[in-house]
Amino acid sequence: PSPSPVRPELVEGRARTTPLVEADQALMDGVLRRERRALAKAITLLESTRADHRARADALLNALLPATGKAIRLGISGVPGVGKSTFIEALGLHLIAQGHRVAVLAIDPSSNVSGGSILGDKTRMEKLSADEAAYIRPSPASGTLGGVAEKTREAMLVCEAAGYDVVIVETVGVGQSETAVASMTDLFVLLQLPNAGDDLQAIKKGVMELADLVVINKADIDPNAATRAMAQITSALRVFSFHGNPAHSAERWQPRVMQISALKAQGVADFWATVKDFEAKRRASGEFEARRTQQARAWMWDIVHAGLRHAFDQHPAVRAALPQTLADVNEARIAPSAAARSLLNLFQHPQP
Ligand code: GDP
Repeated sequence: PSPSPVRPELVEGRARTTPLVEADQALMDGVLRRERRALAKAITLLESTRADHRARADALLNALLPATGKAIRLGISGVPGVGKSTFIEALGLHLIAQGHRVAVLAIDPSSNVSGGSILGDKTRMEKLSADEAAYIRPSPASGTLGGVAEKTREAMLVCEAAGYDVVIVETVGVGQSETAVASMTDLFVLLQLPNAGDDLQAIKKGVMELADLVVINKADIDPNAATRAMAQITSALRVFSFHGNPAHSAERWQPRVMQISALKAQGVADFWATVKDFEAKRRASGEFEARRTQQARAWMWDIVHAGLRHAFDQHPAVRAALPQTLADVNEARIAPSAAARSLLNLFQHPQP
């Protein structure tokens, strides 16, 4: 006898997910048929903060999931003016000429703080955005439970389902967004200016340690400075990789440094060859898939933890006790650890 069909949401021990509603079935089909309008609508649904939209978006994501994961995911970061959009445009056009389809998702953490936007103020990547084989979209960084990249992670999956085989996630080099981008991409690229001292900033901030590849842009302006910066950064990376990977071998990927001129589209082909080499080495060692698995789990936990925190912050008994508890901590009438435990106790065991 053939096994009876099992509704996955009814199997004990599985997380419950809502089934796809009919209207979203059409949306899903549109995404899989690579229709831009459907793609844009799907991402808009994901970005909605309404609870009913969220449930539909989750169902849509689950339904699209089998069609995801086939792209190479590139993270690109760097300070404003380093040449991110110039580089991404040059790279995107190069890839499209080779038959790739390129999605660019931009995370702009500044839109949180100032209401303005570093990435959105100017017309960016005009040629690339006019190309049918490219899709460019900024992600809102605010109003999300799971951190700045939550919507971008989801949008990335939808872009993959829509057949984009290169997904570039771009962020300005400020705040937590670099860590977020490194934690959602296969390869994290740090763009640097060729002047000395700038690289030290990145080292201090710990961003250099995230980089799989450091690209010195604007090498055309001062080739000697670019070469000096390359030497400096190479030695800095060697220190990190030595600490991180005691098992050195020629087969393993070691973080690299290269120079390009995005404006003159010089070094772009070389950059892509390096990306492919990275991918080949990481796939061969199993690290490529391992990083993705680890990222998927971390993503889940991020949202669980953020949800718990939100529930705690909103909990009526916690909110009622908070002013007095804070006053007690301020006046040293109660130890901070004991205060924390008593608040957690109110959250976990609310009195009737
Ligand atoms: P973003 O803020 O990081 O996106 O930087 P942009 O791509 O907007 O570039 C900032 C400025 O640097 C623009 O005026 C670009 O034309 C210029 N630029 C970008 N790449 C290069 C390069 O390789 N060489 C030179 N000379 N200028 C560049």
